[in-house]
Amino acid sequence: MTKLSGSVRWPTIHKDVGALKVMPNLVDYEATCTSFTWESERRSLSGLPGGGINIAYEAVDRHATGPLAAKDALRFVHADGAVDALTYMELAERTDRFASVLRDLRVGRGERVFSLLGRRAELYVAALGTLKNASVFCPLFSAFGPEPVRQRIQLGSARVLVTTRAFYLKKIVSIRDDLPTLEHVLLVDGDDDQPQPEGTLHLPALMRSAPLAAPIARTDGDDMALLHFTSGTTGLPKGAIHVHDAVVAHSATGRFALDLHPDDVYWCTADPGWVTGMSYGVIAPLVHGVTAIVDEDEFDADRWYSILEEQKVTVWYTAPTALRMLMKAGSDRVALHDLSALRFIASVGEPLNPEVVAWGEETLGQPIHDNWWQTETGGIMIANFAAVDVRPGSMGRPMPGVIAAIVLRDEHGDPVMNGDDPALATEPDTVGELALRTGWPSMFRGYLGEEDRYRKCFVGGWYLTGDLAACDEDGYFWFVGRGNDVIKSSGHLIGPFEVESTLMEHPAIAEAGVIGIPDPVAGEVVMAFVELRSGWEPSDDLRRQIIGFARKRLGAAVAPRELEFTDALPRTRSGKILRRLLKARELGLPEGDTSTVEVPR
Ligand code: ATP
Ligand code: MG
Repeated sequence: MTKLSGSVRWPTIHKDVGALKVMPNLVDYEATCTSFTWESERRSLSGLPGGGINIAYEAVDRHATGPLAAKDALRFVHADGAVDALTYMELAERTDRFASVLRDLRVGRGERVFSLLGRRAELYVAALGTLKNASVFCPLFSAFGPEPVRQRIQLGSARVLVTTRAFYLKKIVSIRDDLPTLEHVLLVDGDDDQPQPEGTLHLPALMRSAPLAAPIARTDGDDMALLHFTSGTTGLPKGAIHVHDAVVAHSATGRFALDLHPDDVYWCTADPGWVTGMSYGVIAPLVHGVTAIVDEDEFDADRWYSILEEQKVTVWYTAPTALRMLMKAGSDRVALHDLSALRFIASVGEPLNPEVVAWGEETLGQPIHDNWWQTETGGIMIANFAAVDVRPGSMGRPMPGVIAAIVLRDEHGDPVMNGDDPALATEPDTVGELALRTGWPSMFRGYLGEEDRYRKCFVGGWYLTGDLAACDEDGYFWFVGRGNDVIKSSGHLIGPFEVESTLMEHPAIAEAGVIGIPDPVAGEVVMAFVELRSGWEPSDDLRRQIIGFARKRLGAAVAPRELEFTDALPRTRSGKILRRLLKARELGLPEGDTSTVEVPR
């Protein structure tokens, strides 16, 4: 059995709850885990007036007639810095109209509405309006070119696409003949008197003439609500099916993992084209009745610090890549801004190196709270909570209501069972596959068109996540790597995350991606690709120095044997390091699906 090596462990960051700016929603972790049930969380929501549950009703309508009606629900920061907002009441009206438009077009229950839009108001209106109509929403990341769009629309049998004129002309016209299910293309822009491109409808005109009072359609917890494609980090993206009951998990995780309070100004930097941007950029904050910031532009260190300052963001949910880019831009930039409103920072999407957690403490005055989940889990499963001590490098502990465990596989790849239960077989600190006991509300209900693949994810009442991790004696989970990324060298199992985190402790290194390459003696040896911080130049001397640095900390068996400097690591468009591509390129193998590869910065 392989044990977690422990070299990534940094000093624990202790929390003094009394010194926090607001009392966290979760103060006593153990007690909350004991008392919490998904049923009680479900009861804390409103439910549809006639029975059933609908994400959009919980997120918008129930607030729109109460004290929050005139409060900003979504506040948009445009590329030029101008700001405007939609209140809860305005959002309710617009989403009603959008649902009416769908009804007028005879688009009904369960039918798929896709969007290809930047982070603009129409995207949010289309998403929530679609849910009100009991149709299924699938947001596509707006930077996709025609091919990834075609693949996803075909797989999802889209009946409606909401997009812009420019995207339509650039990305859809050339593939429209290949999309037989796509009946309606609704363009969000263009003037009324401008001729409409053939085969499209002008959404603003339809919205104006749509009847306002469209009663929200009845949906039940198990009705399909959202279709989200995975990031494609390990291969071809999969379409994960999510249901309306997921809102119960969004509500609970918004409360406990993001610690949302009524007066928060909350900013989730993820694009709604990915599951984080929908679950936590739209649903969770609106369910909690807070004001959510939307930045319509792309990453820029100064712009982001300015948004945090000017919008007085209190809770910020972002990603390791963005945090590492902020680190790379230099901590002196932070001093130019007043970030005193900020009280809680969380991160998801990739392993969060302890170096980054510590940078948060030093530079922003608070640690970054890592949390772990997947497109498939629909919501946060493991988290560092506001009141709970942080062990830098750990993903934290399971959400109340979530039971996580480590499962081992035998030499045939089958889970090792202990009676009926594969999760009972492991001791603390043993590396194995992260598994979750089924039954949390936002669990995916299928991979679209891939039933067999879906079934294979489950064993004996557990969902096997495909990620390798270990759980320490106190119940903190430590990410080791994705199943496919783990390196087997001279009998050791080496997680790339541990090596990357150690490399990032070297002052010259901004980011690192680590892979295994074949070796006749060791089976595989570790190879690292590194991006340097500004002010450092690649040289043989620096290479030797870094390898020596890593050897001292990790030992010769685990430290990189080879190291290459790169200007930009290959990433998915959602910002994850594509180790499979580093490997394919290094070994001259086919690159596989590259539909979600980011164009180098
Ligand atoms: P694909 O499944 O198509 O290969 P993907 O797994 O990257 O893509 P997502 O569902 O967006 O698609 O990402 C979930 C994965 O991201 C997790 O399984 C895990 O590998 C990684 N991840 C997310 N959060 C964390 C975290 N806090 N620490 C480590 N890894 C994380
Ligand atoms: Mg995945």
